[in-house]
Amino acid sequence: MSRKENEMRVILAPKSCNEAVARSVVTAFVMQTDPSVSELSDIKTAVSEAVTNSIVHGYRSCTGNIELLCRIFDDKTLYIRVSDKGCGIADVKKAMEPLFTTAPEEERAGLGFAVMESFMDSVQVRSTPGKGTSVIMKKRILSKTPVRTGALENECS
Ligand code: ATP
Ligand code: MG
Repeated sequence: MSRKENEMRVILAPKSCNEAVARSVVTAFVMQTDPSVSELSDIKTAVSEAVTNSIVHGYRSCTGNIELLCRIFDDKTLYIRVSDKGCGIADVKKAMEPLFTTAPEEERAGLGFAVMESFMDSVQVRSTPGKGTSVIMKKRILSKTPVRTGALENECS
């Protein structure tokens, strides 16, 4: 059984400016695992895609909060859950197909889930129509060349 080392929970309003807030707080939290620049960039991008989905799809016609839960296990294993209580997804398998989008008129590419899957080790989506969606992502940090402290300041600015 893995031991939980640390945990962060952040509640965000579904506003587009909070996508950058999510990226920044995840960066600050993940730094303790000594990620490489590339691992950190992958994690931020995946979180950003999930948070954006909650804002633009989940809360398109209702309102509520987004919960960002991050945990670290065994020093190097990252667990991230992005949850909303929005409209939910009727067909998760279909939604996760690359290029599938329900918002083509907004020039959405239908690639958010594909990006999450390619940047993280695993992505699970749990969703109930009318109740909301949770995206659970995991990644093992393998880096032997961690980001230096100065880079963190740039990431958070
Ligand atoms: P892109 O991410 O490339 O801008 P997209 O958001 O449409 O486009 P995905 O992120 O792959 O593509 O999501 C696919 C579809 O899944 C969305 O078009 C939307 O219908 C649905 N979806 C994703 N996340 C949510 C969510 N949190 N709540 C409701 N529907 C969602
Ligand atoms: Mg998307």
